[in-house]
Amino acid sequence: MSHKSAVYPGSFDPITFGHMDIIERGLEVFDEIIIAVACNSVKNSLFSIAERIDLIGEIYRDDPRVRVDTFDGLLVNYVVSQGSRVILRGLRAVSDFEYEFQIAQMNYNLKSEVETLFMMTSVPYGYLSSSIVKEVACLQAPVETLVPPPVQKALNEKFKKD
Ligand code: ADP
Repeated sequence: MSHKSAVYPGSFDPITFGHMDIIERGLEVFDEIIIAVACNSVKNSLFSIAERIDLIGEIYRDDPRVRVDTFDGLLVNYVVSQGSRVILRGLRAVSDFEYEFQIAQMNYNLKSEVETLFMMTSVPYGYLSSSIVKEVACLQAPVETLVPPPVQKALNEKFKKD
């Protein structure tokens, strides 16, 4: 049987239960998921790339099916360099669609052998995003239903009132 892997790219600033749901369900389909933290994002970030990778590494420390890495440059080239042919993305509200559609089309034009696969969010996470988590944490509100313990701790550190 061939070993099937998928690359799950994103900012993961920070990783949330919404991302983890996609990863868990992705593992029902693929033998390995490579979480690829994008270096070239124009978004303002709260956590450095190294901090995001460390958090993801801690969460999946005991799961050899999940690997975390970083990439810059063209995603499709990175996917091929990892011996994979699949980009995994999650879809939440309709608002994600336009953006995801555009990127998927562009990636297809760049390298048609790389396929983008979408998974619909699970109902409880439809409105969960890294940005909303950061806003909530910044206002000192509880985030334990949104992110796992290592991320809760890291957020508390970032927004600690001294
Ligand atoms: P990006 O900066 O590329 O949008 P994100 O880290 O925000 O990266 O998200 C990475 C991927 O995970 C995207 O495909 C996004 O749609 C998906 N995702 C994020 N949050 C959720 C969620 N709550 N449910 C399903 N998919 C999600």
